[in-house]
Amino acid sequence: MWDHYMSNMSPLKNAHEALKGFVSLIGAGPGHPQLITRLGYERLTACDVIVHDRLIPCELLLDVRAGCELVDVGKIPGQTRIPQDFINTILIEKASRGLHVVRLKGGDPSIFGRVGEEASALAEAGIPFEIIPGVTAASGAAAAAGIPLTQRGLSSCVSLITVHEDPGKGGIGLDWRVLAQSGSLALYMAGGKTREVGQGLIEAGLPPATPVILVQNATLPDEKKWIGSLLQLSEGHIPPAPGAPFIVLVGSVAGLTLPDLKRQPLSGKSVVLTGPLSSEKEGLPGMLRLYGAEILFCPSIEIVPPEDARPLEEAIRNLNLYDWILFTSRNTVDFFFECLRGLGFDARKIGRCRIASVGVTTSKHLMKQGIRPDLVPAVESTGACLARELIAGETVRDRRFLFPCSEIAGVDMSDLLTQAGAQVDRLTAYRTITRRSDWPCRRRLIESGCDGLSFASPSAVDGFWEILGADHASRICRAGQVFSIGPTTTRSLAEHGVEKVHQAPRSSPEGMLSIILETLASPS
Ligand code: SAH
Repeated sequence: MWDHYMSNMSPLKNAHEALKGFVSLIGAGPGHPQLITRLGYERLTACDVIVHDRLIPCELLLDVRAGCELVDVGKIPGQTRIPQDFINTILIEKASRGLHVVRLKGGDPSIFGRVGEEASALAEAGIPFEIIPGVTAASGAAAAAGIPLTQRGLSSCVSLITVHEDPGKGGIGLDWRVLAQSGSLALYMAGGKTREVGQGLIEAGLPPATPVILVQNATLPDEKKWIGSLLQLSEGHIPPAPGAPFIVLVGSVAGLTLPDLKRQPLSGKSVVLTGPLSSEKEGLPGMLRLYGAEILFCPSIEIVPPEDARPLEEAIRNLNLYDWILFTSRNTVDFFFECLRGLGFDARKIGRCRIASVGVTTSKHLMKQGIRPDLVPAVESTGACLARELIAGETVRDRRFLFPCSEIAGVDMSDLLTQAGAQVDRLTAYRTITRRSDWPCRRRLIESGCDGLSFASPSAVDGFWEILGADHASRICRAGQVFSIGPTTTRSLAEHGVEKVHQAPRSSPEGMLSIILETLASPS
């Protein structure tokens, strides 16, 4: 098959073969899932094993290959760190078995990331490796604060400093006098030591009025900034939330910040998306991010091929016998054309058949296949409405309709057409099943909840309840705002006891966005 041939030829696949027994030490960036480099992302989505830290965007772990092993070696605050030797051994052992291993670290791996220790252990063991840089937290924090780290005439150097250099040493162990002479300072790992840092820098000669910015959770939706002076820092006026990472920027550059940096309407809001990853990655997340929301991908269902594709294949071979093909979801479009290509045909096989489409996304997917629908229901995006318009527009008696659909698709449309004398072949093009693999953000969702949850089908509702368990699912939905794409999904939520549901005005990503904005956006 051509598809098969193409996938075997893809550069990623070749990279996968070439990187057997190899370790990629990758920086994931400071927190925003899209701040990883393209090269880092490419490696991440093609490797066999990911050994990751805690401070990495959990969304990245959703995009891995099926069967990719995830090993969490992150340190939970207050608990003991996994010994570095142990991590080195995991990397060496996995790579020695011929696997492509990704070691994913927060920020840049070469800045307080212990990449040196890992690289030399690998070199000693004779394992080839590469280092892929990332955006370090100081850059993320400066961007979040809207300031530069260096500025002509103001600061011509920047020091990246770990306050927590070696707990064994006792005290901070830094020469503040030297640091105080230099340009901008970016202080990492200052948890519990902000006062000490402020005092140390003043004692070393920095003016107490020196500007300071503290940025917590830089580049993340719950990012927080505090702007003040060294004196205030030394007096303990800055209370960063415990547990969340922060950077302290000190020096005249910190005084360049504008007090009213733009805030987006959904800044600080987290929204759970529950549909299958393939569809949730399109449209809505991009729009929500544009408005500043954090997305928690909790795919509750997966779309898989039918158990028996032969009836649909047979219908595709005989497409010339049909007058119309009816598409009511993007999934039917995707699976129908995949099946058609799998049989060695292309879009020309459609021939004289006319095409009807329900829903904006369905039509967009048809257009991607080079097909402009002949009929889109004008009044309402439902199968029943499409059937009524077909019946009103022409005689359907004895006409043949092919309706590729999911196993659980509603029967309204085919019933109406059959009653009007049409012959409708309703054939399964895909199945919806509860997702088998877990969500990387599951723990976070259970512990901290979210501001909003979006459901786009009854099966996503059922899957969410099944994966989380009824107690957690109901509690999280009670604490946040629940959004539904349309009446069928709203009914399904009611069956699970969720009464307060915000229903989208239109069954589309844009409809969902508008109801989410209306409900969650902070007043500007
Ligand atoms: N290699 C990482 C640093 C790891 S040390 C990098 O290049 O960024 C961990 C420290 O980084 C934290 O204690 C905190 O000081 C800082 N940090 C990491 N992510 C951060 C974020 N999103 N916002 C603010 N500081 C962050």
